[in-house]
Amino acid sequence: MPFEIDFADPRIGFASAHFIIGHDKCGRMHGHNYFLKVKIIGKLDEQHMVLDYGIIKEELRKLTKPLAHKVLIPSKAEGLLIEEIEDSIEITTCDKRYLIPKEDVILIPTPATTAEEMAKYFHNKLKKLWPQFKIRVSVEETPGSSAIYFE
Ligand SMILES: [Zn+2]
Repeated sequence: MPFEIDFADPRIGFASAHFIIGHDKCGRMHGHNYFLKVKIIGKLDEQHMVLDYGIIKEELRKLTKPLAHKVLIPSKAEGLLIEEIEDSIEITTCDKRYLIPKEDVILIPTPATTAEEMAKYFHNKLKKLWPQFKIRVSVEETPGSSAIYFE
C-alpha cells in the first residue's frame, strides 16, 4: 500500500530574478523568494519510511543552491537569443536586450521560467533521482501563488 509524505521546509527556498517574455507586467525583470514543496508517494522501506526527510532536504538544497541570487534564463524559450560575450551573457527577447555578467545568470532548460515550468523542471530532476516514487512538486513564487507539477 502506498504512503504519501510531504516536505515543506521554509528554509528550502531561493531568491532569484526572472522575467516572462512578452508578458505585460512580468516581462520586466523582477525577483521572487521561491519556496519549494514536495510530496512523495511510494511504498515503505525496511525502516518503515517512504523516504528520509533528511535526504529530501539535502537533495532540494543541492537543486536550489545553484539558482540562488541569480537571473533565471529559460534557454529553450522561443524567440530568445542567448549569446556569450566575454564575461557576460547577452539576452535578446522580442522587445528587450539584457547584458548580464555570466556568473549572475543560470540557464534553465525550459521554455519559460514561470512557476509552472519551474515546478516541472524540479520534478524532472527529482524523478531522475527517485524513479520509484510518484512525485508532486510545488513552486511558490509569492505567498499564496504556487504551481504544481505531478505525474
Ligand atoms: Zn515573476
